[in-house]
Amino acid sequence: SVFIGSSIGSLTEIYASLQKSIGATENLFAILDEPAEPLSPVTAIAPEDALHGNIRFSNVSFSYPGRESLPVLRKISFQVRANQTIALVGPSGAGKSTIVSLLLRLYDTTGGHISFDNKDIHQFPLSALRSQMATVPQDVFLFGGTILENIAYGREDATEEEIIEAAQKANAWEFIERLPLGLNTIVGERGMQLSGGQRQRIAIARAVLKQPRILILDEATSALDAESEKLVQDALNKLMEGRTSIVIAHRLATIRQADKIIVIDKGSIVEEGTHHELVNIDEGLYRNLCEMQFTQ
Ligand code: ADP
Ligand code: MG
Repeated sequence: SVFIGSSIGSLTEIYASLQKSIGATENLFAILDEPAEPLSPVTAIAPEDALHGNIRFSNVSFSYPGRESLPVLRKISFQVRANQTIALVGPSGAGKSTIVSLLLRLYDTTGGHISFDNKDIHQFPLSALRSQMATVPQDVFLFGGTILENIAYGREDATEEEIIEAAQKANAWEFIERLPLGLNTIVGERGMQLSGGQRQRIAIARAVLKQPRILILDEATSALDAESEKLVQDALNKLMEGRTSIVIAHRLATIRQADKIIVIDKGSIVEEGTHHELVNIDEGLYRNLCEMQFTQ
């Protein structure tokens, strides 16, 4: 088509041919310059889209697209107030990570509503929503690039000083500093292979730099050995202060201080309360899970 015969061609030639064939010249550069995953700096958020950090699930049901006969969440209702820490607990496959996916609007609910500060989730631009949330997942994905770029992801305007400070707060600086190229070390598929704990600390540095209103930790310390777990947990505890946090944890000792623990089983909420309240429920699922971990 338009490129045939232009050998490798310069970008200018390609633009010129495209412009001719499309005819719409004004927006062409804008379209081509758009990053694959548009990121909006926190400063770009309209005042009406700024989150305080209140979250409400009202009768939320969900099944994955194409698997409508397998309900994953069944009429889930809960509320998180701004700056609270809530923990989601339950057996593997219960639906905890799915709740996180719905919060990030990776999927839409199949029933019920999710709202932030009493406004329906659909009233917020996706970019505004996601730029105010940070997740530290179980398996951290680093893209091909430097450590610096990976930490600055989502806050492209950050200075090197701010990035170093974030790495220090995440207890990541100690290992970055020892690398011959430091922050300029290339990571990802073709770069240096970092351990699970190191990657998680980079994700935490990313979250520290982003200063999100809502922080989501999905089994964030599960891939760590005992020593890095303590370092990461300290970093996370600091990061959770002053923002809404949703914590999914295997190790129940890490969520004792949560304002509220929500116990999920087979897509339904079966118990809800503080650690103290839940350990006092006879034959309760939370109590059982605690006892199982204690004896292990
Ligand atoms: P948890 O985080 O509590 O272990 P998940 O939310 O990951 O549970 O999974 C809940 C259920 O949804 C499981 O039955 C799981 O197999 C299914 N599930 C999770 N992710 C997907 C997906 N992307 N597509 C289809 N089914 C999924
Ligand atoms: Mg999960």
